[in-house]
Amino acid sequence: MDRKFFVGGNWKCTGTTEEVKKIVSTLNDAQVPSSDVVEVVVSPPYVFLPLVKSSLRPDFHVAAQNCWVKKGGAFTGEVSAEMLVNLGIPWVILGHSERRSLLNESNEFVGDKVAYALSQGLKVIACVGETLEQREAGSTMEVVAAQTKAIAARVSNWADVVLAYEPVWAIGTGKVASPAQAQEASPNFVHFELRKWLHSNTSPEVAATTRIIYGGSVNGANCKELAAKPDVDGFLVGGASLKPEFIDIIKSAE
Ligand code: PGA
Repeated sequence: MDRKFFVGGNWKCTGTTEEVKKIVSTLNDAQVPSSDVVEVVVSPPYVFLPLVKSSLRPDFHVAAQNCWVKKGGAFTGEVSAEMLVNLGIPWVILGHSERRSLLNESNEFVGDKVAYALSQGLKVIACVGETLEQREAGSTMEVVAAQTKAIAARVSNWADVVLAYEPVWAIGTGKVASPAQAQEASPNFVHFELRKWLHSNTSPEVAATTRIIYGGSVNGANCKELAAKPDVDGFLVGGASLKPEFIDIIKSAE
């Protein structure tokens, strides 16, 4: 079954208005494969969402990096899913490992967030991934399955979910799990296992159609080889999404 290649750019907590305008202008000028071939979504910090939404080319879309777990109200400092919908922001990243580890977001809390965001009409990039300790202890699949299970327990319609497998040890470290590494260490192995997990625990259709993208030190140099892996349906890119090489990563869809 056809799964359209997906490239997300996670700008994290960085940037000034000037820098954001520069990145948008680089993206707007780029020659990339058509939106029939690749879906491109960039995720600036909340405060820049309206600017990016209004100035970005129409074939690219915008994601928030988080949203509140339920309807907005007396939750100082939070941004609700309804607000994102109101601004015309179609996507949200949820469960990023930085939020799981630094802000103690549990699997259940992330699952609740995913379910609520979907119920409001947002599309979700849901992140899962093991730490180095967990990988070394041999519990990668157990950890990733538990994270995915907390989502699957609360979500029945996966059509608007992209699953991002991001091993924590590969994020921002330059230590991409290269396709040349041993099978167990390569992201494609986890992608394959995750798809099998979806097959047994959701449905064969969900397993066949849900995009499982890879994140963790993806760059212009390693994207082609990773993109060629059958179960890697795209990328969630951090550092390199702020640089012109993001265009090369988008082009790896072809
Ligand atoms: P990185 O980050 O590409 O800088 O490793 C990926 C992510 O955190 O989504």
